[in-house]
Amino acid sequence: MTRIKLLSTDFDGTLFTEFEHPPIPSELQEQIARLQAEGARWIINTGRDMSSLMEALGRAGIEVEPDYLVLVEREVYQHRDSQYVPLPEWNEACHRAHAELFARIRPDVPAMVAWINARFHARIYEDAYSPLCLITSTNGDMDLILDHLEHYCRRVPDLTVVRNDVYARFSHRAYNKGTALAEITRRLGLSREAVFAAGDHLNDLPMLSRAYAACLAAPANAVPPVRAAVLEQGGYVSQASQGAGVAEALRYYLGAGGA
Ligand SMILES: [Mg+2]
Repeated sequence: MTRIKLLSTDFDGTLFTEFEHPPIPSELQEQIARLQAEGARWIINTGRDMSSLMEALGRAGIEVEPDYLVLVEREVYQHRDSQYVPLPEWNEACHRAHAELFARIRPDVPAMVAWINARFHARIYEDAYSPLCLITSTNGDMDLILDHLEHYCRRVPDLTVVRNDVYARFSHRAYNKGTALAEITRRLGLSREAVFAAGDHLNDLPMLSRAYAACLAAPANAVPPVRAAVLEQGGYVSQASQGAGVAEALRYYLGAGGA
């Protein structure tokens, strides 16, 4: 029996590579299937929303089925009878916290939009998850805009900006990939000692913490702050990229190299 009872994997850049065939390596699918057969549960912990993730999973034609989804870095869904159903207590509390927080910042959004538009060419929009969502042309532009938005966040309790590459949105500090993982761990009656977490970008940092997972991993393509955070906490940074990198990290933790 392995000591890993719960896997939390980011999707894009960690598990899934859109133009690879298959987009999730067969070895990784087999490892996940074997762990699930031994009783472990698997979470896809992503910034994508439901329809976008379902489309990508459908097109990838994968054989394994996640037990849980964490969507938009904060909402939790459980696989039941071939569907993903929301965890009502968590998702309702999450929705309420965001509604209250976003009502407080909404009057300031037009000034932020004007500040960004005066300096950058960026896609700016509102969606169901944030009153301000951003897509920039370059990571350099996003670095500068984020400095500005993070300065604003310091004045608003509970507000944070979640960034993944050239995408960013506002969020409540209490709801992220890490706290959602902790909630699933708690509901399963497990401890962080039994949890494996893997991710490649800044929005993964909240779950790439020893507070939530004893087995931390990053594929070779992870951005430098993610590789650094994983190494500083004694985690494993793979030689291989994306899904092959996650497979390598699982081999490490499940094999002789693991604790
Ligand atoms: Mg990613």
